Order: sequence, then structure tokens, then C-alpha cells
Amino acid sequence: MNRATSEQLYQEAEDLIVGGVNSPSRAFKGVGGGTPVFMDHGKGAHFTDVDGNHYIDYLGAYGPIITGHAHPHITGAIKTAAENGVLYGTPTKLENQFARMLTHAIPSLEKVRFVNSGTEAVMTTIRVARAYTNRRKIIKFSGCYHGHSDLVLVAAGSGPSTLGSPDSAGVTRNIAEEVITVPFNETESLKQALETYGDDIAAVLIEPIVGNFGLVEPKPGFLESVKALTHDNGSLLIFDEVISAFRFHYGSAQEITGVEADMTAMGKIIGGGLPIGAYGGRVDIMEQVAPLGPAYQAGTMSGNPASMAAGIACLEVLQQDGVYDEMDRLGEKLEKGILKHAESYGLPVKINRLKGMLTVYFSEHDVTNYDEAEATNGKQFAEFFHLMLEEGINLAPSKFEAWFLTTAHTEDDIDQTLEAVENSFKQMAQK
Ligand code: PMP
Repeated sequence: MNRATSEQLYQEAEDLIVGGVNSPSRAFKGVGGGTPVFMDHGKGAHFTDVDGNHYIDYLGAYGPIITGHAHPHITGAIKTAAENGVLYGTPTKLENQFARMLTHAIPSLEKVRFVNSGTEAVMTTIRVARAYTNRRKIIKFSGCYHGHSDLVLVAAGSGPSTLGSPDSAGVTRNIAEEVITVPFNETESLKQALETYGDDIAAVLIEPIVGNFGLVEPKPGFLESVKALTHDNGSLLIFDEVISAFRFHYGSAQEITGVEADMTAMGKIIGGGLPIGAYGGRVDIMEQVAPLGPAYQAGTMSGNPASMAAGIACLEVLQQDGVYDEMDRLGEKLEKGILKHAESYGLPVKINRLKGMLTVYFSEHDVTNYDEAEATNGKQFAEFFHLMLEEGINLAPSKFEAWFLTTAHTEDDIDQTLEAVENSFKQMAQK
């Protein structure tokens, strides 16, 4: 594939924008380097890059694009919003309408507040939990990503009862000491951490269905135990559903797993591709937030009409009969096809999939936690990624990400993708 224009634009970008990208995951660092592809336009499940090459897209912009690119219903809603003025700084009817849709779909959301990103949503749930409990520390789980606010950019300490260390320059030791990180899908370490720091723990923060070391589901009983231990300790349970909300069904992971959170953070899909975040939960907790309570949170852009309109339109598409079943059906076909080709070419592949979201790990072993994801073969993934890109398949450039199907993917897209997978595996097996 000729990508001369992408290469030229990337050089230009490196002079202008730090690292040439506006979010580090877009650089190809996780796949041994290379030039990120500059896309020109997207339609449905397809992209065309600036050199005129075509791709089937499984990146889905890291999750938000569940109805495909430029879905006419969402595009129409955004156009109408733009024509009416994109930002008022006053309340609007759209905010009520959208808040009603979210609170109806997710029963634990008694009250919500809109913000502008997943980062903001999670950051605020932590502040509110601290205000509510009058405690300082939080517990989170290894490999779960919660945005880039200071508190959640803290790596695990050396054991379940040790405090974290900064995971980014600029995050201070004081902040790292507010966070304990324990393994996912295992409750012993959480128990120990709660025993050590019990009275200090404001909240336990978790992705109930993980999307950030690939797709990883909670083992049966795990979330129930997390909730029981958290509540026995007088702490709040926060679910980060920035990826999982509306990904697997019309609602959150809470209705799927049967475990409700005290507070929930959302983003991505609920903005239909425009910037958004939202958090919500029990009314007595949410009433800690200004102007009712002492916990301050605000935003010039929060609840802006364009994001509200796009989010409403996106959820309207997702309300249509059978959309999740169809993503499930195509996801299953993709999973089975990839496994079949992996077997034929003797490549060790494990796939975690739920409905239209899946992760392909190059591994002999199942992946149920971060350490297991970390142990999968990154070199093989990198090779696969670059071969697939040459075949016209756009995947996320990291072994820790997922493939996202959309309502726009067709049987034909899956067939073409499986052909690309076979060609890629064949080349990998010849090495
Ligand atoms: N939480 C989770 C689970 C996420 O996956 C992400 C983004 N990948 C975030 C929070 C942060 O969201 P944003 O990038 O919108 O700030």
C-alpha cells in the first residue's frame, strides 16, 4: 500500500504536535513503530485514508463509534444542533431528554451529571466518593484504565497492601499514596488491602467488564465479592463503564452481571462520537455535588447541545430491534474464523469475546487478568497488526486493545476480514 501522504503528514505533525499525535495510543509505539495512517473520511464500517487506500475499521475510535462512521441519524442530529447554536451556557431540553434515557436504561443511576470525557467522569466520581465518605484513599485494579487524572495514573505497589507509585512523571508521591492497586478477578488481595487501610478507603473503582487489557470478563462471583467487601468496609463501589455502557446491550454491565454500583462513570458510546462523559448514581451520593452539596464540579462545555443530540441519536439507533444480536452473530463468526485459521497455521491464539467486542491474544493461555495479558506475545501481535493494515484492516495498535464491531459491519466485511486474517497468519507461519 502506498502511504506517501500519510508519511508526509506525520512528519509535518511531528514538527507541530507533540509526538505527532493528540493521544499517545495513536502512535505506533505498541507495535514496534511505523507511521500512523492519516484517515481522510469514514462511512459505516469503512475508512479511506489520505492516499486513497480503503480499510475495514475495527478500531471504532477506541469504542465510541458503535453505529459506524457518519451514521445518517447521528449526522442529522448534529447538523440540526449546529444550526440551532452549539453552545448556550444555559440548561436545555436536550439535557433532560438524554438524562431520562440514561436513567431509564441503567437503574442504578438515580441522578446524573454530564461532563466532557471519560477522564472527567471517573475523576469526579472519586472526588464525590471522598466527599461522601470523608475518607481519602481508593483501591483500583491492575490494568484497568480510568483516564489520565493524577489519582488513576498510579501503578501497583509491590503487594496488595502496598501503596502505589506514580505511573507518570508529574504525579506526586503524595498522590500515589492515596491509591492501592490489586489484581482483577481475585479477591484475596482486595481483602488484604481493605484490612490494611480499611477506614481510609473511600471507594473501590473497577471496570466491571474490562476493556483495557483486552476484553476480560469478571469470573462468576467476583463482582459480587468485590461489592460485599467494599460495602462491609463502608466504602463506595464505583464502576467505570466508559467502555462497557451500551457496548453489550442497551444499558450497562450492571444489568448483565447483576451487580449494581453506587456510582457509575460513562463516556465514549453515549456521545455518539462527540466529546462526552457522564457520571451518576445513588441520589444521596450525587447530592454531594455542587450546587446542592460541597463537592465542586463544573464545565463550560458540559451538556452542550451537539453532544446531547449526538448521544440521543446514537442511543436511538441502539434501541432498534436486534442490533446487539447482529453484532454478536458477526462477532461469533469472526471469532470462530480467526481461531480456525490460527489452528491451520499453528499459531497460538486465544480470543476473549462478548457480543461485538473481542480481543485476539497471541498466547497459549487464557487471559483473565493483567499479568496474563502482559504475558501474551507482543511481537507476534505487532507483526499481525502491520500485516492486517497492509490487507486493509484497521485495528488498534496495541495488544491490550479490543476489536469493536459496529451496527454497520456486514457479513461481507467479516468475510473479507477473515481472508485478511488467513493471509496474515500464513505469512506469520512462514517465518
Ligand atoms: N475509563 C475507561 C474504562 C476508558 O477506557 C477510558 C478511555 N479509553 C477512560 C476512562 C478515559 O476516557 P476519555 O479518553 O474519554 O477521557
